[in-house]
Amino acid sequence: MKSDFMSRPSEEVLLEINRLKTYFFTEEGVVKAIESVDLEVYKSETLGLVGESGSGKSVTALSILGIVPDPPGKILDGEVIFHGQDLRKLSDSDMRKIRGNQIAMIFQDPMTSLNPVFTVGDQISEAIILHQKVTKKEAKEKSIKIMSLVGIPSADERVDNYPFEFSGGMRQRVMIAMALSCNPELLIADEPSTSLDVTIQAQILELLKATSEEFDMSIILITHDMGVIAEMCDRVAVMYAGFICEIGDIMIIFKSPYHPYTRGLLGAIPRPDAARDDLQIIRGAIPNLINPPSACRFHPRCDYYMLGLCENILPELVEIEPGHSVRCHLYTDEGKAWMAERGDKRVIGTIPKSIAG
Ligand code: SF4
Repeated sequence: MKSDFMSRPSEEVLLEINRLKTYFFTEEGVVKAIESVDLEVYKSETLGLVGESGSGKSVTALSILGIVPDPPGKILDGEVIFHGQDLRKLSDSDMRKIRGNQIAMIFQDPMTSLNPVFTVGDQISEAIILHQKVTKKEAKEKSIKIMSLVGIPSADERVDNYPFEFSGGMRQRVMIAMALSCNPELLIADEPSTSLDVTIQAQILELLKATSEEFDMSIILITHDMGVIAEMCDRVAVMYAGFICEIGDIMIIFKSPYHPYTRGLLGAIPRPDAARDDLQIIRGAIPNLINPPSACRFHPRCDYYMLGLCENILPELVEIEPGHSVRCHLYTDEGKAWMAERGDKRVIGTIPKSIAG
């Protein structure tokens, strides 16, 4: 059922993640990076994955692609269903056919992903040859074409340049060219513009938007920036300390955020018309995931914390209206019972009138 605000372009699910759990077994202890992630990515949509550093966004991306460094990382549970098959059950060689071909990824710092001793043309061509039956010459021609498409000027000359001969923004364009070279159905972009200056950031985001339409591609856009989410995404999933705490269509989340953490993130967006004092902060910091807070991991930072409940029982991720799910006791039966018992009115002003009835 579609809500009035629903803005995703398709109803077809491309990727479904169920109960994903990834830990890192380090000398200091077990880092419980992802405890339980459930997500769907629809065809042709841009889904934003947002949260503070350490919330588990990048580990979710690495888990989807099966490239969590092992050791110390391990995916302990869950399914990653892509085109009806669980990627976690595929052999390494079958997974390699999907990676870079049907699902591609770009990273925050293109320098760490480009090999400094090969020309960019060789690197894009290599990705093409790996997945397509083409000659070296055809791969190079295709590389030039795709470099032009992502806005690299004089691509037929620059194809023979090395990564150090490109600026940061141009290197990120090379990475996008490489990711697009095999027409992926899903692109995972992990903070793709964070290391760039503001004007180049806007160009890279614009390029991603244009290419997702041109290639009819879904994107998972990982960022800590709610402003980028607002610009780019159809839906947004808010992550906190290894859990999805709220997910919904962009219009719904920005108009009526339910989870206290989402409210905090939105309240922390600087607005030019707002007084300095209006800027809200989320008190405290993201917890150490070796020894995270029990049950709702946000409870030590939450202004709505219900003593005896939130630190003891993990709230389920429940759909509270079409296309909008939240993991918080303000909306569970247990939470409502807790408040009713105490005549507590904290929920008023938290739930929009349309839902509270
Ligand atoms: Fe706050 Fe409790 Fe909701 Fe967690 S479950 S976000 S502590 S109200």
